[in-house]
Amino acid sequence: MKYLYFFGAGKADGTGDMRDLLGGKGAGLAEMTRIGLPVPAGFTITTETCNYYLTHSHKYPKELHAEVSKGIARLEKLTGKELGGAKDPLLVSVRSGSARSMPGMMETILNLGLNEKSVEGLAKATDNARFAYDAYRRFVQMYSSVVIGLPKEELEEKLRHMKKQLNVKDDTQVTADGWRRLVGEYKQYFKQKTGKDFPEDPQEQLWGAIGAVFESWMGEKAVTYRRVEKITGLLGTAVNVVQMVFGNTGEESGTGVCFTRDPSTGEKTFFGDFLLNAQGEDVVAGIRTPMHLSEMSKKMPKVYKQLETVRAKLEKHYRDMQDMEFTVERGKLYMLQTRTGKRSPSAAFRIAVDMANEKLIKVEEALERIKPEDIERLFYPILDPKLQRSELASRKLAEGINAVPGAAVGKAVFTAQEAEEWAQRGEKVILVRRETSPEDVGGMYVAQGILTATGGKTSHAAVVARGWGKCCIVGAEKVDIDANAKKMSVNGRVVSQGDWVTLDGGDGSVYTGEIPLQRPEPPKAFETLMKWADKIRKINVRTNADTPHDARLARTMGAQGIGLCRTEHMFFKDFEHPEKSAERQQAIQEMILADTSQARRTALDKLLPFQRRDFTGLFEAMDGLPVTIRLIDPPLHEFVPHDPAKQAELAKKIGISAEQVARRVDQLHEANPMLGHRGCRLSITYPEILEMQVRAIIEAAIGCQKRGIKVLPEIMHPLTLDKKELKILETATRRVADAIISEANVKLEYLVGTMIELPRAALLAGQIAEVAEFFSFGTNDLTQTTMGLSRDDAGRFLPEYVDQSKAAIFSADPFQTLDQEGVGMLIRWAIEKGRKTRPKLKIGICGEHGGDSESVKFCHRVGMNYVSASPFRVAIARLAAAQAVIEDGKRKGKKA
Ligand code: PEP
Ligand code: MG
Repeated sequence: MKYLYFFGAGKADGTGDMRDLLGGKGAGLAEMTRIGLPVPAGFTITTETCNYYLTHSHKYPKELHAEVSKGIARLEKLTGKELGGAKDPLLVSVRSGSARSMPGMMETILNLGLNEKSVEGLAKATDNARFAYDAYRRFVQMYSSVVIGLPKEELEEKLRHMKKQLNVKDDTQVTADGWRRLVGEYKQYFKQKTGKDFPEDPQEQLWGAIGAVFESWMGEKAVTYRRVEKITGLLGTAVNVVQMVFGNTGEESGTGVCFTRDPSTGEKTFFGDFLLNAQGEDVVAGIRTPMHLSEMSKKMPKVYKQLETVRAKLEKHYRDMQDMEFTVERGKLYMLQTRTGKRSPSAAFRIAVDMANEKLIKVEEALERIKPEDIERLFYPILDPKLQRSELASRKLAEGINAVPGAAVGKAVFTAQEAEEWAQRGEKVILVRRETSPEDVGGMYVAQGILTATGGKTSHAAVVARGWGKCCIVGAEKVDIDANAKKMSVNGRVVSQGDWVTLDGGDGSVYTGEIPLQRPEPPKAFETLMKWADKIRKINVRTNADTPHDARLARTMGAQGIGLCRTEHMFFKDFEHPEKSAERQQAIQEMILADTSQARRTALDKLLPFQRRDFTGLFEAMDGLPVTIRLIDPPLHEFVPHDPAKQAELAKKIGISAEQVARRVDQLHEANPMLGHRGCRLSITYPEILEMQVRAIIEAAIGCQKRGIKVLPEIMHPLTLDKKELKILETATRRVADAIISEANVKLEYLVGTMIELPRAALLAGQIAEVAEFFSFGTNDLTQTTMGLSRDDAGRFLPEYVDQSKAAIFSADPFQTLDQEGVGMLIRWAIEKGRKTRPKLKIGICGEHGGDSESVKFCHRVGMNYVSASPFRVAIARLAAAQAVIEDGKRKGKKA
């Protein structure tokens, strides 16, 4: 087996598509070398080696030593320098790099090869002793903390102390002597802590560094990051050993990070940060605030032009927006990394659409590149535009760099750990830090938004938050943060832990207090891309909506009808006239508490006009599109009060005794209500409820039709068991509906169908389809009933079932992503049997899975006619439906 892949002088053992084996960085370096870009030479130790190391009690494969020695010898020959040599020595960086980008989560050691001898060589060769000793102290500092595990803070403290003694503020003001002294102190500290001398031998240094990088794969922050990013199935990290080039040798040097397009907006402009006279980690760590590339173009026009050429070449080569790291060493450009750039959701759309229009990629590729999260995040909130400017101005606390758009509101917390604790308690938090480091990722993840006082758009906080589409403001330099005292202040205004703050990631403003947020208008590229998706997809997308407002909203999101209206929601609340909610509630409660069918009917008569108005609103909103209305579903106890005070209040209102109310509520109690008296079982036992609801639907439909609105009502019975049961319901439904229609002397088409929510219904679907004109899979209940997992209680243990580092029994939460194997088998069976009986049977899904990308693809594959998703997930479903067709095409292409 080959453990090491060399690259240099225009040739590389590896290629760009060997990401799994070489990691993203290693593959990028190999590919950039191949296409003739200026890349320092080096080699990559494979991820398989890491896997071997971690599974063989932290031992290396026995061939590795020889391969590394050969790699170093080759590097020495190519550069004409010796690792740790006394004259112009070869120095290397040792960097991690896995197949998936994990920014800053693993370790890096720079300037390796420096020792008492080679530091002098470096000083002579560069004629810059200050630089050489600065490089040396950075190496000793990094090596001590990363490889040996000495506390970073104490090393930093020594640096601060030294600067204080020398009475200087910036690192750049420290002299060669100052750095030399600090190296001495670090080494002394090293000896005191470890009982050993700091290693002088470059080989020992190298193996220490390789081991530390491998170990960092299992480090806490890396493991957390993989957990929250759901990164699984990787072998480990690769190790890249690369010739050092220095951005900190003077004003002709520098280092930067850039993107081939703007990662926030997607605009085709060259975007990035550059720091003069600095090393790479200074940009990423966000300790100094960098200059924009446009400024660099003035300071180093020749290098900038070269960088522009690299930008064009890389984009053309990779056919995607790239994120690059580079260093300029005394006027010479070196590319250190390239990878697919992380981008904000709206940038993702713009870049995909622009690249398809530029003919760089096909429309299908553009569609495939958008992830469901991109759509979800596109609708992230903005500050309510109706807010008074003066109000905003008075609340404005500070301004920073708008690193990731979207607004966020939460209570200020000053450590990542507290962010996690508070979020666990259900609090919304804003994480406020001077700068973030990879250790903070857990807290960053749970925060609504992130605010840092330092850093640029490519700092750690910005890169990580952008990947999640999470509102992030960096470089708010006026904010004075005191994490120990748990507060921040700006010009005397103080925000303490727990105080509300609002961030506007759109323009980088920080406000005090809790400002209302709103959903934004999506960008033009979103509309374009969704139109492309609609042209390709085969399955329809409807929405789950209970109110005309939601229905209208869903229609603007592209919904092609309502797949589920849960009528019982209308019993609780009057969405159009909230002041009338109490009246509705009282009517339904009266109905439930009634002892006789006559009393029930009287109460239902009161509900009828409300329901009719609700349905009228839905038909109006969905003019020309089908509307599936489900009859009452939840157990009745959900509608009545359980505490004595409220019971007494209700008793008074409807003129019966409190005891009567209490007794009836007691009667309604069930040990297991989800499997009890609910669903269509209510309509079987209380047919008058069905009658009222069907009447309301049909009367509303006729009323609308008379006004020229095209109505396509579909009446749906929930939780049916079999054909016999559905037949009773269907007969009752048609009796009421047809009588009203014939009395009105109109023609009105309507369908009667059922939800498939029980395994028995799925199994007997062939018979049910003799009665049902359509099926709608209620996969929330079908998952619950098939798996025997209560959808209301499974939260207690389900996380452990899903967590890949724990039981890992499911790869995803089955209530979010359909269990295709188990529940999916019932669905396939039901579709097959149903269509055998009734070939034109209309089939859809209305459980939460209708808005989940992977589940939608499944629904397409099994031949459903539509999926139904909540309004904000309609676009996700449209895109997934198109992606499913594209995936089909690829699969067929492969087979052919
Ligand atoms: C379902 O069970 O999937 C469904 C849509 O119904 P509900 O969530 O209202 O039970
Ligand atoms: Mg259900």
